[in-house]
Amino acid sequence: MAEKNKSLAQQVDELAARLKKLETRLGKANAPDAGSEKGEEAVSLCALPEVPERTFGTEVSAHRARLIRWIDKKWVNGTRLHYYFFDSGSYAGGSDQQEMVREGFEVWRSLGIGIAFEEVSNIADAEIRIGFLSGDGAWSYLGRDAIDIPGQHERTMNFGWDLTRDPRGVDTPVHEIGHTLGFPHEHQNPFSGIVWDEEAVYAYFGGSPNHWPRETTFHNVLRKLPAGEVEGSAWDPDSIMHYGFPAGLIIEPEAYREGLRPALGLSDHDIAEVRRFYPALEDARNARLEPFRLEFLTLAPGEQKNFNITPQSTNDYTIQTFGRSDTVMVLFEEVDGQLNYADGDDDSGTRQNAQINVRLQQGRRYVLRIRLYLNYASDNTAVMWW
Ligand SMILES: [Zn+2]
Repeated sequence: MAEKNKSLAQQVDELAARLKKLETRLGKANAPDAGSEKGEEAVSLCALPEVPERTFGTEVSAHRARLIRWIDKKWVNGTRLHYYFFDSGSYAGGSDQQEMVREGFEVWRSLGIGIAFEEVSNIADAEIRIGFLSGDGAWSYLGRDAIDIPGQHERTMNFGWDLTRDPRGVDTPVHEIGHTLGFPHEHQNPFSGIVWDEEAVYAYFGGSPNHWPRETTFHNVLRKLPAGEVEGSAWDPDSIMHYGFPAGLIIEPEAYREGLRPALGLSDHDIAEVRRFYPALEDARNARLEPFRLEFLTLAPGEQKNFNITPQSTNDYTIQTFGRSDTVMVLFEEVDGQLNYADGDDDSGTRQNAQINVRLQQGRRYVLRIRLYLNYASDNTAVMWW
């Protein structure tokens, strides 16, 4: 709406400013002195914090574990993610740096996804806490791992170099926010078919400007992700989640021996994936979930259903799924027209059902969101509240 009220002159000015930015970036990327004899300079790259890999009991089949790994970092669609910039101390960054990260959120938001981003000035309100500690590299926790980071003083994302001088421009923030949405590194896709010259890879990342120890290189480059953390067999070398590599690191596929340079910006595959997990939502159209009535979900793995709950009296209630299935179930409460997280449960990898015990207020509107991992021993899942 604000867009429509802008004068034409304003819009032209903004367009000119954007073009200028783009030219500066392209100019930097193509600068003749930007590299070594191969025309390539080693660039700073993202190194993810190590989080223990989830393990499963013997009763969890490989297929079930694969689907759980594919889905369990992702947020329930409809989540509003609050982000905060550290504004004092060693984690603080300049306003131009912050502005580039805001642009990164805008790139994802403009796709019309079901995840909302909101900047907050109180760190206690933020799931995503962004620092700019110089020399600490760029990194982010993967998806829902961020909510397990204790304390309100810890970062969940960092930018350790000057983004305004990075020829990849807004792509670095877009990449880190991609991790926050639950997407891993695409060059670690087990279906890529990449065969590395491992010692060359260790030497490249061990050198300037990254100076990574071997375990960091292994964790972020050489290690193939468990099948399931990435979906299907499609490998996308143009993904925003893919590093670029100079010549001499990739042996196979042969086409990349002279280097692999992902196109700038989001790829078609990135856009399709984020829209698959986080399609646009219209909660006004949700079916109403009636109390004491079993509602069948009929979902495929990764799919989600959303229901409105409007209690007729204020009381303590139970909301529960039924069936031998793995689900993540989150309840949101409408406050001032905005849906806030109220409670949630995730029963993946267990014999339990997801259950929420909660006090609901008469006259309020709640939205229940249920994402299915899979039905592991029955062919459907149902939900009821009472
Ligand atoms: Zn990364």
